[in-house]
Amino acid sequence: MSKPVLESRGLWRTYTGGPEAVEVLRGVDLQVAPGEQIGILGASGSGKSTLLHCLGGLDEADQGEVLLNGEAFSALPEARRCHVRNRHLGFIYQFHHLLAEFTALENVAMPLLLRRIPIREARQRARQMLARVGLAKRVSHKPSELSGGERQRTAVARALVSNPDCVLADEPTGNLDPGTAAGIYELMLELNREQGTSFIIVTHDPGLAQRMDRVFQLEEGVLRAC
Ligand code: ADP
Ligand code: MG
Repeated sequence: MSKPVLESRGLWRTYTGGPEAVEVLRGVDLQVAPGEQIGILGASGSGKSTLLHCLGGLDEADQGEVLLNGEAFSALPEARRCHVRNRHLGFIYQFHHLLAEFTALENVAMPLLLRRIPIREARQRARQMLARVGLAKRVSHKPSELSGGERQRTAVARALVSNPDCVLADEPTGNLDPGTAAGIYELMLELNREQGTSFIIVTHDPGLAQRMDRVFQLEEGVLRAC
């Protein structure tokens, strides 16, 4: 395999906050190649979100490490990790997490503005990305003025506008009817091919997962190839 974009080595994550410790991840090893699509299945509560959070540097594992483009990522100080995350990764969640007060265009431009890209260029790139996901006529709409599928398309545009190396998607279609969900999946796979962006997609739907290059089941804290 060519050098992985994202790699985890022996990730362990235990939650100790509750009445009893919960060992959620018990040594997760994963290598994501450039442009690869990875599907992750698993029962509710099996630790899929925890895994994505650790891979994306939003949560820290208790043991093991995450490497981004071959460099230790999980070990970076918070501020530096934030910077690297913004530059190299994109996120899509089950609920769109768009900012309610802002238009679709402003939401999609946000990751670019965080990277200090000038506002004119950021807005232009956001407009192009929204056109690419089929929302050229919705740029001035706020999230409350969009349908569920349109909101998720906007979230996909926001995740991809900065041309990340890898997108981490946590049940991105879990909140949509099957037809709309399939459309969003199709869009993500098209963007994967066009932009060469790697995708890790957590899903409940084995049918959708089977369309990815590789599929894993998260079970008892480890990933098993399906
Ligand atoms: P999934 O996304 O597969 O549904 P999660 O990663 O959200 O699973 O959660 C895995 C397990 O960890 C669950 O049993 C959940 O109750 C527990 N868990 C998640 N977050 C916390 C937390 N902050 N504190 C304690 N336990 C947690
Ligand atoms: Mg989850």
